[in-house]
Amino acid sequence: MSTILPGATLGVIGGGQLGRMFVHAAQRMGYFTAVLDPDADSPAGRVSHHHIHTDYTDVDGLARLAGLADAITTEFENVPAPSLEHLATARPVAPGADSVAIAQDRIREKGHFVRCGVDCAPYAVIETADHLAAVQPDLLPGILKTARLGYDGKGQRRVATQAELAAAWEDAGGVPCVLEKLLPLDFECSVIVARGADGHMVDFPVQRNLHRDGILAVTEVHAQNMPESTARRAVAAARSIAEGLSYVGVLCVEFFVLADGALVVNEMAPRPHNSGHWSMDASDVSQFELQVRTLAGLPLNPPRQHSVAVMLNLLGDLWFIDSDVQEEPRWADVLALPGTHLHLYGKTEARRGRKMGHLNITGDDIEAVRSTADFAAALLGLPIPLSE
Ligand code: ATP
Ligand code: MG
Repeated sequence: MSTILPGATLGVIGGGQLGRMFVHAAQRMGYFTAVLDPDADSPAGRVSHHHIHTDYTDVDGLARLAGLADAITTEFENVPAPSLEHLATARPVAPGADSVAIAQDRIREKGHFVRCGVDCAPYAVIETADHLAAVQPDLLPGILKTARLGYDGKGQRRVATQAELAAAWEDAGGVPCVLEKLLPLDFECSVIVARGADGHMVDFPVQRNLHRDGILAVTEVHAQNMPESTARRAVAAARSIAEGLSYVGVLCVEFFVLADGALVVNEMAPRPHNSGHWSMDASDVSQFELQVRTLAGLPLNPPRQHSVAVMLNLLGDLWFIDSDVQEEPRWADVLALPGTHLHLYGKTEARRGRKMGHLNITGDDIEAVRSTADFAAALLGLPIPLSE
């Protein structure tokens, strides 16, 4: 991939918040941007120089994107891989359709982890009634996950018995699934790496994540957020997963850490990730700048974290704390707290469970930052304490 210098146009398929933050990073560096998304009001489309409103598979829309953009990336996992393949005949595309296709399918994804020698949760593939009947009882209780199109805990069901498993698979429409053993988690973490077309790779510090109801709620990044050996193993695993894909772009790998300290890979996202949003305010280079750099073939320097960080996800629920009528949260009070950085994605309609924005809290000392985060959470109506 040759270097694409500022002044050129970078394209992105998908107009959500990740696309919006990519567009902001690209524009800051002097690029023009083009977004393809069917929603005329999409968060990224609203801030981009060009916005093509077509479906992700629309041949005319894809041709217009390829005509405008000098290189193209994606911002959501379920972008049709054939669209990327099609675009790649005309323009550099990163990440590649192959990597995206593997990440889109839990069965292929787990196969890749196994090939890379990284442990994942014990699992069984369920594609047929015979597979269902052959499930080993030691995988129960477990979580049945659809192989495709899941996010934020959607497409998942906990099952304790063979009968519940059979019912859950039927409810899922009998589509290909994986049954994963329910593991005793101590905590969850993730690692974001960026890899250039020349194979050079850099990584961010390991992120400790707290999920609520299957959705990321809090990320903490500081030197003591987990044992050093766990952090080292997670970074090494994420790097080998990226290397094994000959990946180009920003990749997030999510892990479980079990009660006995074992590290188990959960899944990967072929794009910047919610758990990396802290990097916008606490690192000299953000995950979105690295996405720009990998796409444009620019050099990658290791990011330097200059502040400890806590990130709070802001879901639509916060707009309905005191009433059923949508009401703006108390931003002015929150922003009076030291080291608070508000990011909102420009979505006009708040809905429960919808990602509306995030709040980064930065400082020198994790205890002080945590206590500020607790204050902010109290003002916003988030559950406290923030940690497990
Ligand atoms: P997203 O893509 O938004 O991260 P998802 O819908 O792909 O979410 P997963 O990451 O597979 O879902 O699971 C969501 C959460 O459910 C995990 O972060 C974890 O808290 C819990 N979970 C998933 N699998 C297991 C498991 N095998 N054992 C214990 N907990 C699990
Ligand atoms: Mg996940």
